[in-house]
Amino acid sequence: RKRIGVMTSGGDAPGMNAAVRAVVRMSIAKGCEPYAIFEGYEGLVKGGDLIKKMNWEDVRGWQSEGGTLIGTARCKEFRERPGRLAAAKNLILSGIDALIICGGDGSLTGADIFRSEWKGLLDELVQNKELTQAQTDQFQHLNIVGLVGSIDNDMSSTDATIGAYSSLTRICQSVDFIDATAYSHSRAFVVEVMGRHCGWLALMAGVSTGADFVFLPEKPPANGWEDEMCDIIRKHRALGKRKTIVIVAEGAIDRELNPISASYVKDILVSKLRLDTRITTLGHVQRGGTACAYDRMLATLQGVEAVEAVLESTPDTPSPMIAINENKITRKPLMDAVKLTQAVAACIQNKDFDGAMSLRDAEFEE
Ligand code: ADP
Repeated sequence: RKRIGVMTSGGDAPGMNAAVRAVVRMSIAKGCEPYAIFEGYEGLVKGGDLIKKMNWEDVRGWQSEGGTLIGTARCKEFRERPGRLAAAKNLILSGIDALIICGGDGSLTGADIFRSEWKGLLDELVQNKELTQAQTDQFQHLNIVGLVGSIDNDMSSTDATIGAYSSLTRICQSVDFIDATAYSHSRAFVVEVMGRHCGWLALMAGVSTGADFVFLPEKPPANGWEDEMCDIIRKHRALGKRKTIVIVAEGAIDRELNPISASYVKDILVSKLRLDTRITTLGHVQRGGTACAYDRMLATLQGVEAVEAVLESTPDTPSPMIAINENKITRKPLMDAVKLTQAVAACIQNKDFDGAMSLRDAEFEE
């Protein structure tokens, strides 16, 4: 019976538990044995109790649990070959040669490196007499399937990552709460939201809440944006708006790549518009709580697809990433998606903002 490992890695995201539940139950339904790897790559490197066989009932009710119940961690050892050697040994000892990883681009890159080194790692383990040839014979190929779990929606080639809509929902609720007090006192609020180098959360929060101005990493404002922002807010106020909401992505930058901070934006609103202005940094409430319906559905459908992908994969097919495109669950070559994601980041680093935007647009025209 084929053994399939499932793990969560990198930053936690709502919906990861639904993904693990779907993988566990679909594996069982397909006659396989699911194993949970606890604490991300740490569990692979350390093995022992951190690799545990899962039963149908072990994941009962997991759709409605936030965070990740099998834990996640950043694991330095796995970045180095000796760590991956220990991980390979632990997998062989547990009889696992297929891994479904729910994480961000870092985690999925690590998984692909692990797969590409697999044969060499096994040879080394046999040479070092840590394993016998007979132990490794039936595990000559490591199967990797990626599920993208990230609140940032920062992976190319998929319309949504698991967790992004839950986070967006939380941000919208929070801005609604702020709206009430902003309106009452006729105040301005500068709201900082997460997203790392991706502006999706900030942009969609801006659209969803009717924010006055939004700062994104991919599309820095033109020089002199201070006046432009103030003009727009003045116009909104002249139309009778009693509240001002400015959303700043945590990775927001100007055209010289200098960070745009919430406190600087606040200073401008106070000094140029004389607005009573407060800063709200939403912080980790954006990660917490239960997954929204969309993420539960996405994680469940993608978890099912991930098990199908494991069972259909061959040593010659590149590792797939389970995506969603135009409302269809799809498979994309994992490393192509990672490379495209990194290409967008490289454009921004080179101040080629038009290039970054056209790479993003190209995805939707595929
Ligand atoms: P995310 O998956 O959310 O992008 P990280 O980039 O922090 O988060 O990656 C999570 C973990 O994945 C790291 O702590 C490390 O164990 C592993 N990892 C990331 N990048 C690599 C890499 N290039 N090689 C091997 N392992 C990696």
